[in-house]
Amino acid sequence: MTADQDFRAWPKIDLHRHLEGSIRPETFFEIAQTRGIELPAQTLEEIRPFLQIADDPPDFPNFLGKFKLLSCFWPDREAIERVSYEAVEDAAHDNVVYLELRYAPVHFARGRGFKPADVIEWVHTAARRAAGDRGIRVEFIACAGRHFPMEINVPGIEAVLEAGPEEFVGFDIAGDEINFPLDPFAPWLERIKESGLGLTLHAGEAGPAENVREAMARFDADRIGHGVRITDDESLVEMAVERGTGFEMCLTSNVQTATVPSLQAHPARSLLTQGVCVTLNSDDPQISRITLSDEFKAASESGFSSTELKAALANSVKSAFLNESDRNDLQNRLNSYHKT
Ligand SMILES: [Zn+2]
Repeated sequence: MTADQDFRAWPKIDLHRHLEGSIRPETFFEIAQTRGIELPAQTLEEIRPFLQIADDPPDFPNFLGKFKLLSCFWPDREAIERVSYEAVEDAAHDNVVYLELRYAPVHFARGRGFKPADVIEWVHTAARRAAGDRGIRVEFIACAGRHFPMEINVPGIEAVLEAGPEEFVGFDIAGDEINFPLDPFAPWLERIKESGLGLTLHAGEAGPAENVREAMARFDADRIGHGVRITDDESLVEMAVERGTGFEMCLTSNVQTATVPSLQAHPARSLLTQGVCVTLNSDDPQISRITLSDEFKAASESGFSSTELKAALANSVKSAFLNESDRNDLQNRLNSYHKT
């Protein structure tokens, strides 16, 4: 391995990483045990397949099923703080220098009736403490779920608007994009944009290319989560290039969810070479059992040159929800590593 392929050593950026998909199975198991929470199996090794992809055949519902035990699980503040701290610690360990960590406050709040505002405070305090301890910068993106009823989403969105840009840099809508339209979110998305938060929307992952058009043209999204389906519509590729929309691509996740048939068939590199602002991200590192370095290795094996990987990182800098001066600092930090 040449120094240029030592991807763990590369300072990296992750713009698309879910806290819910970053929970160590060991921690989950320990929390369940110490709180007396009943699980469908009795040992850590037996629990793992409920939480992580091993040699599961690629399948979207199977991937989503790995979140099942985690939802409505969160018993107390200490548990939520611990997983938040560890998610940032794990990113730092992989030499991610800038992380935009996303999560749905209601995911952690609704099982035990916590206030979304309290969850926000717990997650951010713990994650920022880890960031300080480990020398990484972390910012937060709030998620809502398309498939959640709006009675669940609205208290979360209200708490995010209340917390504002001091706590969040962006807002995202994830979840089932085939059966649940974005219409109920339209008035909220307007308020989110007005509040100054960046907007990223999961689109064109399981759903069609048209969802990416909707995210870009109707909702003026700054970034798209995945968006791989734009290859079905040449005019969308042109629109993406013209608008400079950031595409948060997650290669391994897309293979595991059967969004693409193989790493080699993933359109990320081809879109990058066509001028789309493609970035590389981990999505759900614990569920996929990967690090961002693994993703860089996967990209390299699927055809990305070293220069193209650096271009993808430069795209991450460009589309990070940061001000210009912070983006310049970040780019300088990446450049100084590659100069030595
Ligand atoms: Zn995602």
